Amino acid sequence: MNQRDKELMIEFCQELIRVPSLSGDEEDVASLIKDEMSKLGYDEVWADDAGNVIGKLAGNDKSAPSLTFTAHMDQVDVSPSEDWEHDLFGGEIDGGYIHGRGASDTKGAIATQVYVTSALNELTRPHGDVYVAAVVLEETGGLGTKYLLSHFETDYAVMGEGTKNELRIGNRGRVLVRVNFQGESMHSSAAPPEDVLHYDVMKFLERLKGLKMASGELGSSHVVPTLCKCDNPGSNVTPGEIELSVDWRTVETEASDEVLERIIELLPQNAAAHIDPMERGTYTGIKLSSPDRQSSYYISPDNQFVREVRESLQERYGRDVPVSTWDFTTDCGYFADAGIPIVGFSPCEEKYAHTQEDRVSISLMEEAVDGYGAIIESVPELPGQTD
Ligand SMILES: [Zn+2]
Repeated sequence: MNQRDKELMIEFCQELIRVPSLSGDEEDVASLIKDEMSKLGYDEVWADDAGNVIGKLAGNDKSAPSLTFTAHMDQVDVSPSEDWEHDLFGGEIDGGYIHGRGASDTKGAIATQVYVTSALNELTRPHGDVYVAAVVLEETGGLGTKYLLSHFETDYAVMGEGTKNELRIGNRGRVLVRVNFQGESMHSSAAPPEDVLHYDVMKFLERLKGLKMASGELGSSHVVPTLCKCDNPGSNVTPGEIELSVDWRTVETEASDEVLERIIELLPQNAAAHIDPMERGTYTGIKLSSPDRQSSYYISPDNQFVREVRESLQERYGRDVPVSTWDFTTDCGYFADAGIPIVGFSPCEEKYAHTQEDRVSISLMEEAVDGYGAIIESVPELPGQTD
């Protein structure tokens, strides 16, 4: 990219970091993005009812498939134990990095995606429509992306979660199951041990621990109990109800709705299991709701989109571009559910996300914009999803 665009992109990234944007409070960052897109000459810029910002760069070949770059605007809160060397919301530049909360998760990616215009100017071949979609509410379960895909269509997508300019093709999903045990609350001096609810929980947990887990390209699925709530008022009273949260990380060989059935099979008569809805309010004032689970996502390295993207990046960079999977859950599962092939490619780095070291490398940002240009050029070779 040219020097002028590079400087503007860095400034834009700093501005994004300087505006805090907790989940549900992304309005100010959303306006910055809309303004920048308009300044850069996007053909259309709008926000949907949930506040996701979408910019369109119209292609000159209407038959070519469309491509969407996406990342999230919200950022996680700061925990009291964090000890920042740089100003948390300063967007300071030091050692070749832009520092601050959200830099690598995923404001650095938004800045490069919005500046994809810099790569497009140098394109000589026809291409399809290119979109940049900055979404809300990723950190609280991905309801922004889920809403976006209820009304927005695209043929292919690139996710901006941290990959350090490598490719990611999968991540495990998650399902949160609540298990409620019902019994009788008794004074501990007289409670027969066989009637104390904790022992029912113990038997369930032993069965859970012994479950055979599914495996696939994403490794092995994984389940552990997390929260445990008892309703008893004191230590001399046994509980009449215990609620246990079970966090299950799924791989691509198991459907997220199988998980609940498998837990129900382990339950004693006096227990029931369900998946709660996650409910979040957007800054636009609407309420989004969805079951508290996110699908896993996996796309084969032999998939034509993955191959084209990888080859074009390797050709552009003159180096190998490794392919692997993420350890954490991303919004890619919603794209997979919608039948949209998606890969991860971003200058952000997984290891800095949610840490006091949060930062994004300027040279990786510059390289990413160049890579986006290569990806855009590879897409006309692919079939449209609606063909
Ligand atoms: Zn995050």
